[in-house]
Amino acid sequence: MFAILKARPERGLSDADVESPAAPGPGEVEIAVSMAGVCGTDFHIWKWDEWSSRRVKPPMVVGHEFVGRVTRVGDGVSHFAPRQRVSCECHVTCGHCRLCRTGRAHLCRETSIIGVDRAGAFAERVVVPARNVWAVHDAIPDHHAAVFDPCGNAMHSATIVPLAGRDVLITGAGTIGLFSIGIARSHGARKVMVTEPSPYRAELARALGADLVADPREPKTREQILATTDGQGPEIVLEMSGNAGALRSALEVASNGAHVVLLGLPGSDVTLDLAETVIMKGATLHGVTGRRMFETWYDVSAFMLRNPQVMDRILTHRLAAEDYASGFDLIAAGNCGKVLLDFRKDAA
Ligand code: NAD
Ligand code: ZN
Repeated sequence: MFAILKARPERGLSDADVESPAAPGPGEVEIAVSMAGVCGTDFHIWKWDEWSSRRVKPPMVVGHEFVGRVTRVGDGVSHFAPRQRVSCECHVTCGHCRLCRTGRAHLCRETSIIGVDRAGAFAERVVVPARNVWAVHDAIPDHHAAVFDPCGNAMHSATIVPLAGRDVLITGAGTIGLFSIGIARSHGARKVMVTEPSPYRAELARALGADLVADPREPKTREQILATTDGQGPEIVLEMSGNAGALRSALEVASNGAHVVLLGLPGSDVTLDLAETVIMKGATLHGVTGRRMFETWYDVSAFMLRNPQVMDRILTHRLAAEDYASGFDLIAAGNCGKVLLDFRKDAA
């Protein structure tokens, strides 16, 4: 079958005709992939940066955000049947540890990630545990259902503390920051402010209805944020850039008692003025990983059903899977929202 993989420990990805999966084992489901999203993680693996070169063991088929149709089910799988339209949680957890058994499976230490640690979804077919499979609502189209995963990262972050009536600053309008704008608005935030250096993404943030979109490199940005919040500063920060400077500026402008939700992954250690911008402010920092299984998935499903126009704005590019290389070029240039790859046989 056609698949996109990291064949060797070096920069880039390649495609190949790889062996199709064996029959799904007990408790497993085989899915024919229809459409998949290109994630920042796939881009890290494409670049072969420090993190991915330590973690990924080539050859590895990549990709983990997807929608498809069930083709075969293994023994003991009773809730899914061939032809059913499904998406999938990419964190495969142990199911036995204290965290898994107390509703916090997203924190399981034994997590293995589809398309990172085990065969991924940039392929005609993928086999996954049935307990990771998510039945997609009939009214959610494939190109929306392909991005449950990153929309779920945004939803998880945006539901750590209630946003209704609060002023929210989102640092970084990559795909996850863009989803967060739509979610903050639909959840009743008072003002939604965004900092983003890329003009293309800043424009998308404006189109999604952010009250303020500012360039983090401009000195006047801090004053604009204060003016938008009646001089108080945002009560909630969603850090979606992974940039240390973005976090420091956000902590500095945040109001006393702010909740600062950290999703963006910094590439190295970060230095903060803890005394002035966290302790004396009584700020709370929240680390967020993955999606809550499966509360976040229900929340995202509801969001997608009510906000199809938000989804359409963020899903800016759709390419045939064979054209994946131009998708990665788009991401490298920053001139895109979400890039989707179409794996259906008639897509090319
Ligand atoms: P992305 O790279 O598409 O978006 C990051 C955005 O931040 C870009 O648009 C970039 O221009 C912007 N940016 C850079 N410097 C900035 C600054 N100083 N101020 C404001 N914005 C700045 O990434 P994404 O896919 O949207 O993911 C967002 C972050 O979340 C990434 O760091 C990613 O690695 C991380 N992530 C974390 C998890 C998790 O479970 N914690 C899951 C997925 C992604
Ligand atoms: Zn576990």
